[in-house]
Amino acid sequence: MPSHDHEHGHHARHEGGRTVFPDLLPLDVALPQILEQIPVLEVEDKPIIDALGQVLAEDVVSTENVPPQANSAMDGFAVRGEDTPGRLKVVADQAAGHVTDKAVEPGTAIRIMTGAVMPAGADTVVPVEDTDGGLDGVVNISVKAQPMDNVREAGEDVRQGESVLPKGTALGAGMIGVLASIGRGRVKVYRRPVVAFMASGDELVGVDDRLGPGQIRNSNSYTLVCQIQQAGGIPRDLGVARDTLEDIRAHIDEGLKADLLITSAGVSVGDFDYVKRVLEEHGQLRLWRIAIRPGKPVAFGVFEGTPVISLPGNPVSSMVCFEIFVRPAIAKMMGQQRLDPATAEVTVLDPVNNRGGRRSFLRAIVSRDADGYVARLTGPQGSGILTSMARANALLDIPAEAEQVSAGSRVRAILLAPVAA
Ligand code: AMP
Ligand code: MG
Repeated sequence: MPSHDHEHGHHARHEGGRTVFPDLLPLDVALPQILEQIPVLEVEDKPIIDALGQVLAEDVVSTENVPPQANSAMDGFAVRGEDTPGRLKVVADQAAGHVTDKAVEPGTAIRIMTGAVMPAGADTVVPVEDTDGGLDGVVNISVKAQPMDNVREAGEDVRQGESVLPKGTALGAGMIGVLASIGRGRVKVYRRPVVAFMASGDELVGVDDRLGPGQIRNSNSYTLVCQIQQAGGIPRDLGVARDTLEDIRAHIDEGLKADLLITSAGVSVGDFDYVKRVLEEHGQLRLWRIAIRPGKPVAFGVFEGTPVISLPGNPVSSMVCFEIFVRPAIAKMMGQQRLDPATAEVTVLDPVNNRGGRRSFLRAIVSRDADGYVARLTGPQGSGILTSMARANALLDIPAEAEQVSAGSRVRAILLAPVAA
């Protein structure tokens, strides 16, 4: 256990065979403890076409020049600059992908297409617009051309031996393109985690089922599969466990075969909440109640080598706690160097109440006005109001000690989606 844990007195105790959890743990204490125990996954070697979004596990050094040879940036005529302006004899045509054995001698030109290699003897390209078109074997050039005008130099994009992408780079489309351009068809990247997830509860029915008395629809499995995918994980849906020890045990046993297991609901204090009990059969739960809203009951442990994060059942709490705990955990597994979310300082347009002494993550719509980012709450902030997550593009991070945040105050916002102008 890290020393700050003791300083704050937030470690679990054991009393009469039971684990006794302390008062609410601050997020600043809990999150680093969780992330510290999340492993970075192994490296795999794979085709670049399949590596979008994955993180490089090697420094990529180019073995080639890009472009490999000097070539024309325009359709026109390859000439000697000193022969311009003037009337030159057209001795050959040079298209992209073809190489003429003719050279440009004094007084001559070679008709050249964009991307075609510069012929020997030529030092510049005159765009066709600056000529008479040269249609009868002779071209009249009206301008003075400087050497290297409209010529792309060999290696001007990437030089042979140059380090192009460092280890730790998260591969985007442009980077995959650069790898293709330097002839790197495969790269070493950190593997994506298989993230198993299970819903739990006797009240849950599927989207297409008829709602019986006392039943609600399982929405958490949908938000989880989407969030796991967006975070870069490979989702594995374990389905819904009923509120029996046997069924929860069966689901958790299956889930522990994955790289990361996310459980939903069943970790509060209700009599029928068995997830916590079953996890404790496998070992020690590391954390229990965290001082955030929504989402107080969040549990974490490593069981048989598999990290398990137990999210609260309330749909908003599930999504918010995913953003706070699971997204950075998946990012770490994938070798990402930045685990913290994208944030912005925003001005709140509505006053915000935050009684209860917990750090709160409020659903908000952030937009831009002339002075910068501004935020409005989405409306009711109950942890069952899932439409708040459908409307929000940000979570306002309200410190525990801020009981009242007046309109016009600046707060930190976690950005969940792009901000409209
Ligand atoms: P629990 O942690 O089991 O007490 O659940 C807390 C709340 O979340 C209850 O109102 C549950 O009905 C609700 N809930 C649990 N699981 C889901 C789910 N998969 N989809 C939607 N709501 C859920
Ligand atoms: Mg339940």
